[in-house]
Amino acid sequence: MNPTSRGHVELRGEHCKGCGLCVEACPPKVLHLTTQLNRSGYHSAAYAGERCTGCGICFYVCPEPGAITVLRRAA
Ligand code: SF4
Ligand code: SF4
Repeated sequence: MNPTSRGHVELRGEHCKGCGLCVEACPPKVLHLTTQLNRSGYHSAAYAGERCTGCGICFYVCPEPGAITVLRRAA
């Protein structure tokens, strides 16, 4: 986890369908769709690597089980 971030998000590209819901929903806009295609032919989501707050919104909007895991730094 980046020491300057309150949270961390792990994206499993092989489960992602590239719908972009997480990218739109993320408040600090730290997610994006990659230019490369995953094995299923989708532009999967990726994390910029810092400034995730651990809010969990991306996890709740994602329709694909297992694509997103959110970790939150202990207070
Ligand atoms: S947990 Fe919140 S801040 Fe972090 S990537 Fe998901 S929506 Fe963005
Ligand atoms: S919401 Fe889920 S399926 Fe859609 S782009 Fe994000 S990780 Fe991929």
